[in-house]
Amino acid sequence: NVRVRFAPSPTGPLHIGGLRTALFNYLFAKKHNGTFILRIEDTDQNRYVKGAEAYIIEALNWCGIPFDEGPGKEDGFGPYRQSERKDMYKNYAMQLVEKGKAYYAFDTAEQLDYHRKDHEEKGKTFIYNWHNRLKLSNSLSLSSDEVQAKLNAGEDYVIRFKSPQDEELVLNDIIRGEIKIDTNILDDKVLFKSDGMPTYHLANIVDDHLMQISHVIRGEEWLPSLALHQLLYDAFGWNAPQFAHLPLIMKPVGKGKLSKRDGEKGGFPVFPLSWNQSEGYREAGFFPEAVVNFLALLGWNPGTEQEIFSLQELVNSFSLERVNKSGARFDPEKNNWYNQQWLQLKNDEELAELFIQNHDGRLSGLETLNDKGYVTKVVSLIKERATFVSDFWELSDYFFKTPTEYNEKAVRKQWKEDTPEIMKEVASVLEGITDFTSANIETIIKDWIGKKELSFGKVMPPFRLVIVGDMKGPHLFDILELIGKEESIQRIKNAIS
Ligand code: GLU
Repeated sequence: NVRVRFAPSPTGPLHIGGLRTALFNYLFAKKHNGTFILRIEDTDQNRYVKGAEAYIIEALNWCGIPFDEGPGKEDGFGPYRQSERKDMYKNYAMQLVEKGKAYYAFDTAEQLDYHRKDHEEKGKTFIYNWHNRLKLSNSLSLSSDEVQAKLNAGEDYVIRFKSPQDEELVLNDIIRGEIKIDTNILDDKVLFKSDGMPTYHLANIVDDHLMQISHVIRGEEWLPSLALHQLLYDAFGWNAPQFAHLPLIMKPVGKGKLSKRDGEKGGFPVFPLSWNQSEGYREAGFFPEAVVNFLALLGWNPGTEQEIFSLQELVNSFSLERVNKSGARFDPEKNNWYNQQWLQLKNDEELAELFIQNHDGRLSGLETLNDKGYVTKVVSLIKERATFVSDFWELSDYFFKTPTEYNEKAVRKQWKEDTPEIMKEVASVLEGITDFTSANIETIIKDWIGKKELSFGKVMPPFRLVIVGDMKGPHLFDILELIGKEESIQRIKNAIS
């Protein structure tokens, strides 16, 4: 029974790396008919940011990867916010103390600081574990009366995990395989504090156990915690879930992990939705399908050449075994490419609707823009050159308004002395066409060019220029058909008058 969880801390907007973790959990769950759970890890109240949880949920929904269980979708394993589970953690910390797997420590921040500096001066690193434990203030170095007295006096304490000495741990990761760890390098991590709050490590393990999580799929930054987590499961006498640590997402250029700053400097989004000043993928005009598609291929490969995947195809093809070990380079250009590809897959009517919405109000004077049938035809002609719906207007403005200016460089190059005369004749040829369809206009114009013994170069470029105002655009005869006979002739007249 596959049960996986995405366990973000609500400390701000979901970064693209967090979203990828959510996606891989979702894909794995759906592939195995399992359950995808959202758990909010909000035990660190200092870092809590209002609105972050709602943002995370909205982002998952926008991507089309909603959770099955989580806040507001209770299914017997809730509550799903750790702050609402607060009361159950102490009991677990105490279990470990009683078993001799954890202990009280009373060292103040100043004392610990002193030890750190003292070690540094001697060129060593201070590790709170068997190296130093007995020289510090804790229930392993003090008598039980002393410990009791401190507890009775209400002194601040923490509960630390007693990491074992001289053991070799053999850990297993689905993506990375076997990992061996010498326990002597582990420090005695704090599990619980006297303010009643568990740390991430304790709450995470207890909840994964109680929520019957079968696979923990998370970012590589948590790999260093794996040894402690495995030790905690063993200490409780619980079966550990299987682990899979996803590769880091790397900067587009240079070394290191992708950060928010890379997006700010590079002008590309790193958040799914906007957050304060930062633009998100949604606001930048990306389709959720494109975002899901490129995120899936950031660290996973299907083992084939296929690049375009719908969510359902991803579910069908996904496996953790095909997740790469090495970091995945984030490529904003490639993200745009995915959007361009997904745009081509959308139907023209849907795109026309988005185009119309995009221009709501601003271009209300243009009647053709309210004619959905017309806009749909325009979209079908120009979409192939678009990456975003917001590119449409630039690619198609001449379908909606008669050009009043002409690209100067093109005029210099294409406009010859005899051009006005030729264009005048073109207009009268158009006048005579009754079946004003692209193919028919093309045949007639080409015949006429042949009969007149003119070159194509003398006719077609200036013809495009008067119709479009520029040298851009799709097949000229398609444009003519769409704008219609009257408008086509009018545009020629405007240009030569
Ligand atoms: N709360 C942790 C985070 O913010 C969860 C790590 C885990 O999945 O174990 O990423």
